[in-house]
Parts: sequence; C-alpha cells; structure tokens
Amino acid sequence: MMQGGEPAEALTAIFRRLIANHGPISVMHYMGESNARYYDGRDPLGAGGDFVTAPEISQMFGELIGLWLADMWIRAGRETPVHYVELGPGRGTLARDAIRAAKRYGLEPGVHLVESSTALKDIQLANVPNAQWHNDLSSIPPYGPLLIVGNEFLDALPVRQLVMTEQGWRERMIAVEGERFVAIAGDKPMDSAVPEARRSAEPGTILETCPGAAAMAYEIAGRLVEQGGAALLIDYGHDEPRTGSTLQAVREHRKIDALALPGEADLTAHVDFSALAPIVQSRGCRWLGTVTQGHWLRQLGIEMRAESLSAYAPEHKDAIHAAKDRLIGEGQMGALFKVMGLAGPNWPDGVGF
Ligand code: SAH
Repeated sequence: MMQGGEPAEALTAIFRRLIANHGPISVMHYMGESNARYYDGRDPLGAGGDFVTAPEISQMFGELIGLWLADMWIRAGRETPVHYVELGPGRGTLARDAIRAAKRYGLEPGVHLVESSTALKDIQLANVPNAQWHNDLSSIPPYGPLLIVGNEFLDALPVRQLVMTEQGWRERMIAVEGERFVAIAGDKPMDSAVPEARRSAEPGTILETCPGAAAMAYEIAGRLVEQGGAALLIDYGHDEPRTGSTLQAVREHRKIDALALPGEADLTAHVDFSALAPIVQSRGCRWLGTVTQGHWLRQLGIEMRAESLSAYAPEHKDAIHAAKDRLIGEGQMGALFKVMGLAGPNWPDGVGF
C-alpha cells in the first residue's frame, strides 16, 4: 500500500507519454507493466478487493492440493529434503491450508514462495511465517524433489497478440485515440512468428501466446526432471488451440474494458494448456493430464470432505456446500478452470487425472 510521500504517477499518463514519444506499445508491454503496477501496490483478493480465488472460497481447495502432493511424495518414496514451491501465492491461504493438510501425512517440506508483489509478501508472511521468498525459480534449492503449485498465476503473465491483416500478420499494439487507448495492428510484418500450420487465416483473426507461461513450463519441467517432484498448475483456460483475444480486466468483481484503467484493474488471459503440454514433454517431464477443476476436486473427494466439515460444524453446513458448489459447479469454476498435473520421470501417476 502507498503510504505518505508522493503518489506514484498514474500508469495511464506514463503510457500516453510513451506512446506520444515512441509510438504504439505492444499488448504484451501494456499487460506486463499494468499487472506489475497493479499487484505491487495492493491486495486485490477477497470481497473487499477486485476478485475472489478458489483458496479464498474454501479451505477444502488448499487441503486437497496438500493431500495430492503428500500422496505423490509418499508413493515416490518419501525423499527428503523436499520443497513446497508456490508461484504467485496471493494471500498465502492455499500454502497454509496445503501445508497443514500435508503435515498429517508426514510431509513437512521447506516452503518457498515466488512472489513479486511487496504488498502481498507482507500478508503471506503472516500466513506462512516459515517461508522463504524468491523472485523467480532460479534461487529455489537445486536438490531434493520440488512440489510446485500455481493457482491463477499463469493467467496474470503478459500475452502477446498477433493479428491477421490484409498485408499479413502483425503484432497487436496499443495506440492512443483522443482520450482512449485502442488496439491496432502494428506496421512490422510478423508472419515468421506464426507457425506455418496456422499462417493462413481470415483478416481480423487474433492469435494469442504467452511467452512467460511457456518459459515457466519449460523451467518447471527441467527442475522436475533434474530433482524429481510434481506440479499442479491451475487456471482458467482451454486445452485445445484457439483464436481470438481473451484479454480481460476485472475491477471490484466486474469486468471492465481491458484498456480503460491500466494498473488499476486485474488483467488476465486464458491459459492455453494445449501449448504447455508439448513443452514439458520435450524436456522428458511427465504430463499427467489436464482435466477440469470440477473433475479433479471430485476425484480428490471434495464431496466427502464437505460432508465431514459439515458434521464438524453443522452451523456452517449451507456455507460449506455453497463453497463446494462454487468450486466444482459446471456453470461456476468447475468447467472453465483446468488442473494440469506434471511429474518427474520416475514419479507415479497422480490421483484425479
Ligand atoms: N494464487 C493466489 C493469487 C492469485 S493472483 C490465489 O489463488 O489466491 C496472482 C498472483 O501472482 C499474485 O500473488 C501476484 O502478485 C502474483 N504474480 C503476478 N505476476 C507475477 C510475476 N511476474 N512474478 C511473481 N508473481 C507474480
């Protein structure tokens, strides 16, 4: 949170000046800088913030992730030291719930949080006091299996958009028109950036890629092959290639124009899981599967867990079941959200895939 001193200049003004002086900026630049500013200065989660995530809906979410990780680790031979690594841990709620659940099965890993936001690190410290913080995966210990979790992390990484024009493929750029930011086609030919199989398309077609997600998948896979371990990447997205822009902005629980308030709204894009599986496999890492969140949580026994929590706290029965339905309901988070499972070459299959 901003305290005292000069308030930071609005990102809108910075972008306007940049575009006036140097010309349009790429969608990727716009999204990357907007989100860096957005996350650094605030806690966006919860009813009083901009959006609500699965671990904030119910403790069952983090607990079942902790159980999945413990089950993998036990069946792989209980190797130690072992490290829990979470990417973009938000308030630290998922980490806290997962670690508590895993402990009941004898798994007590070192805890490593990869987080860029100073505001969120403070909140994580209160929830997961024994954690170590990292800016990226490079400083995570190079020995011992890694149990990696990322929930709604990849969707925050900047996407690159290419748009088909009458003259061929161009990068999609952000320009200024009067008072507004608008998306336009850039002037440099980008045909060589489009895989040959997808090169012919109707003018107006948009291809979206996420170089940051691809690089992260590549790095995770390399670590799992080297050190052993398993990973769960959970996000809203799709498991087959698609066209079109999925860039969206959310502020105070409502969708707003993605170009309206840079740095003041959460910008996300759907994760293309179909692009990530071949990347991890190319490194010799196991892809356990990509399934819907509803399917995965049901296989992990969320319905039974909701029953036993309700028996323990009957006064919360309705709230517990409503939260479970929100996590697994087809029209809610159950179908749009996907769970991708990865594991080291000698690690077992995972429950739920
Ligand atoms: N996983 C949490 C929070 C999701 S919001 C939950 O489910 O509640 C996205 C998270 O990723 C935030 O913690 C944000 O600060 C972090 N984040 C976004 N971009 C990042 C980056 N480039 N590097 C590290 N963390 C990032």
